[in-house]
Amino acid sequence: MKLLLDGGGKIDYDMIQADTTVKDLLEAIDIFLRDNTLPCDNCEESCCKKAWSVEMDNVCVNRLSNWNKEAAVSFVQEKLLKKKNYYRDFNQYILRKEKNCIYITESNLCTIYEKRPVICRLYICSPKSYRYNLLRELVGSTYLKALIYEQKMRTDNFTERTIKKYKANPAVLAKDYDILLEDVFTYAEAEGWIDFDERQELY
Ligand code: SF4
Ligand code: SF4
Repeated sequence: MKLLLDGGGKIDYDMIQADTTVKDLLEAIDIFLRDNTLPCDNCEESCCKKAWSVEMDNVCVNRLSNWNKEAAVSFVQEKLLKKKNYYRDFNQYILRKEKNCIYITESNLCTIYEKRPVICRLYICSPKSYRYNLLRELVGSTYLKALIYEQKMRTDNFTERTIKKYKANPAVLAKDYDILLEDVFTYAEAEGWIDFDERQELY
């Protein structure tokens, strides 16, 4: 998978195959940003210092908690807030903060760079094609919702049936951003986030 610019100069990608993973997408973004450096050094207002929500996903929380169940529960309770995702109509967790992200330094360095949220890794502050934006949003939503489920699984006493339902989300209990995009799309279709035609446009 490779990121490129479409005819209108917007960020797009070449194609998604049956074995393309979220990791492939993240690597494609890293390569694109290496070749098309953003003007972060001269950016007067760092995106990490704006009032935007920093949405938190399960893999990021587990990494920051060193895969410790109790630490993950405390992290969510102390550092995160629940906020409605109005676009997709589900609850998600965001960082508890005033304006700046709690992980940005004065000199604009992210102190958790290697473990930063997937939503930060998917972000590019340049015009994007419709399908790139949709892809980014579906991947993000899948991992955001997985954190909601994992926190419930850690704190509530659920039946096997409920747990099985939660595990329909392919990112639940994922150790990395390595799930198949195919599985993200199948989940998104089941959730009603996309229909068959929208899915075909993503390939
Ligand atoms: S990624 Fe953020 S800091 Fe870098 S140029 Fe874009 S808005 Fe500025
Ligand atoms: S986690 Fe890091 S990359 Fe993400 S908003 Fe905070 S400082 Fe920026």
